[in-house]
This record gives sequence, structure tokens and C-alpha cells, in this order.
Amino acid sequence: MSIADNIKSLKKETEAIKVKLIAVSKIKPAADLQEAYDAGQRLFGENMVQEMVEKQTQLPQDIEWHLIGHLQTNKVKYIAPFVSLIQSVDSIKLLQEIDKQALKNKRVIDCLLQIYIADEETKYGLGFDEAIELLRSEEFAALKNIRIRGLMGIATNTDSEKQIKEEYYELKTFFDGIKVSFFRKEDSFDTLSMGMSSDYKIAIEQGSNMVRLGSTIFGSRAKKTV
Ligand SMILES: *Cc1c(COP(=O)(O)O)cnc(C)c1O
Repeated sequence: MSIADNIKSLKKETEAIKVKLIAVSKIKPAADLQEAYDAGQRLFGENMVQEMVEKQTQLPQDIEWHLIGHLQTNKVKYIAPFVSLIQSVDSIKLLQEIDKQALKNKRVIDCLLQIYIADEETKYGLGFDEAIELLRSEEFAALKNIRIRGLMGIATNTDSEKQIKEEYYELKTFFDGIKVSFFRKEDSFDTLSMGMSSDYKIAIEQGSNMVRLGSTIFGSRAKKTV
């Protein structure tokens, strides 16, 4: 199936159940993103700042760009003028820098806290306790130019459906608790980003309302040297 066909069928599948579809286009050329765009896709996810900035200048201006990879504080300034959602916030220090750059650009930047749920050492993110500590802190209370829209998590890369299901269940439970404890009055805390190509159906069953799909849309990310 072509990129356009993939987008059309995935949009149909996700829109019917009010799940937002993020097309993860990292490593893929701008022409592939344009094809997805022409098929109606407007939300794109990238994990590298420089790549996102380059594509943002080349592609239509009504695309909503989501940063989904680890973000260094010294690079926030490059995406602050246009980024639509930073899904990978994993420290108060980063959040303070996003706030500062948002103010410079006279805007509010939407963010998700990335929560560590995988049984792996390589994934970034805040532990449950760390996330609570961040939300309770005076430093967080002082930030006026960021808005926490919800949480993001990446499950363990495993064949065990049971494990993936448990990890997403835990994140959904945590999300519900955080909403009640910290965002009871804010309707904007509404986003639970979980699910990639290999596990998005499980994630949706467990309550995800935003899935991040790369290879299912664009094909596998083969090494450039083949
Ligand atoms: C690459 C990536 C995805 C998409 O991965 P696929 O398996 O290709 O769907 C989703 N989320 C994050 C954070 C990623 O880095």
C-alpha cells in the first residue's frame, strides 16, 4: 500500500474512535511527508530538532509539528517559534527552558510529560514519583508560558502482549490520578499519547487517545547505506 492509502485507512480507523494520529516521519524525506499531507494528514512527529526545523521550512505551514524525541535544553530555541506539542518533557529544567523560549516568542507551548514505563534502561522519561514531585514543585507553579496537556509513554519493546498491556494500563491509571490531583479544573489536560506501530491497538484498548505511527505509514526505516 502507498503512503496515501495507509494514511487514509489509519485516519478512518482512528477518527472513528477519536484517537489522534501522529505520523512519525523521522528519517523520511520531505516528499514522503508531502504525500501524507496530500492524503489529509496534518500532525507529524519528529525526534530530531534539526530535521524537524528543516522539514518545517520545506513543507506546508499548516502542519502541526510534534517533537517526540529527547530534547536538549540548548535546542529548545530552534523549535519554540512553531512547535505544536513537545511530547518528551522529562525534567523541570527542560520545562523551564521551554517556558523561557515560549515567552520570547510570545506564545504558550503545549507539552506532555514523558513517563518512564518500560522495563528497559534506554528509554527517557520521568518515573511516577518524579512526575508528581515536578507537578508539586514551586518551580513548576511559576511557569506561565507552558501548558501541560497530558502524558506520553513508550512501552517495552517486547513480544509479550501481556507486558505491553500492563505497562499501558499503569500509565492510563496514572494519567487518571494525575488529572484528578493536579488538573481537575483544566479541560486542557486531555492527551494520553501511547502506542507505536507494533502496539497501538493494545494502547488504544488501554485508553490511549493519541498514537504515534511511523513504519505502519511510511514503511520500515532501513539504514541509509543499503
Ligand atoms: C520512532 C518513534 C515512534 C514510531 O515508531 P514506529 O514503530 O515506526 O511506529 C513512536 N514514538 C516515538 C517516541 C518514536 O521515537
